[in-house]
Amino acid sequence: MQQTLSIIKPDAVKKGVIGKIIDRFESNGLRIAAAKKLQLSQAEAGKFYEVHKERPFYGELVEFMTSGPVVVMVLEGENAVAKNRDLMGATDPKKAEKGTIRADFAESIDANAVHGSDSLENAAIEIAFFFAKKEIC
Ligand code: ATP
Ligand code: MG
Repeated sequence: MQQTLSIIKPDAVKKGVIGKIIDRFESNGLRIAAAKKLQLSQAEAGKFYEVHKERPFYGELVEFMTSGPVVVMVLEGENAVAKNRDLMGATDPKKAEKGTIRADFAESIDANAVHGSDSLENAAIEIAFFFAKKEIC
C-alpha cells in the first residue's frame, strides 16, 4: 500500500472536471484518503515547486498554480505513486496517451490539469506539505 499526493490544478478546477478526475482515481483502485480545496499563495507554490527554481518556466508555473483554487488529495492504493502517474499521462498533454487525464482534460504543458508525486520519497514530503497526520483517513 502506498500514498501519493495529487493536485487538481486551477485549469481543471475552472473547467468543472473535479468529479470526472476523481472518478479516474476511484475507478482504478486509488482511494481518496484526504482532500481539500484551497488557493495557493505565491510563497506556497514557490516552495512546493522549489526543485524547478532554476528552470525557465518556474515563474510561469508559480503564476499558474496561484491563478485559482486547486484540489489537493492524498491517494492511497497498491503502487499508488506509479499508478497515479500512469493515469495522469505525460507532462505535455499533446504527448499524453489516449485515455489519460492530461490527454482528456488538459490544454497545454503549463495548464496540464493535474500534479502527481514522482517518487515515494517525494510523495511523503508533498503529503506532509499539505496535510496533518490526523487529516488523512
Ligand atoms: P507535475 O510535477 O506538475 O506533476 P510533471 O512531474 O509531469 O508535472 P515536471 O517536470 O515535474 O512535470 O514539471 C512540473 C510542471 O512544470 C509541469 O506539470 C508543467 O506544468 C511545468 N512544465 C514542465 N516542463 C515545462 C516546459 N518545458 N514548459 C512549460 N512548463 C513546463
Ligand atoms: Mg513533477
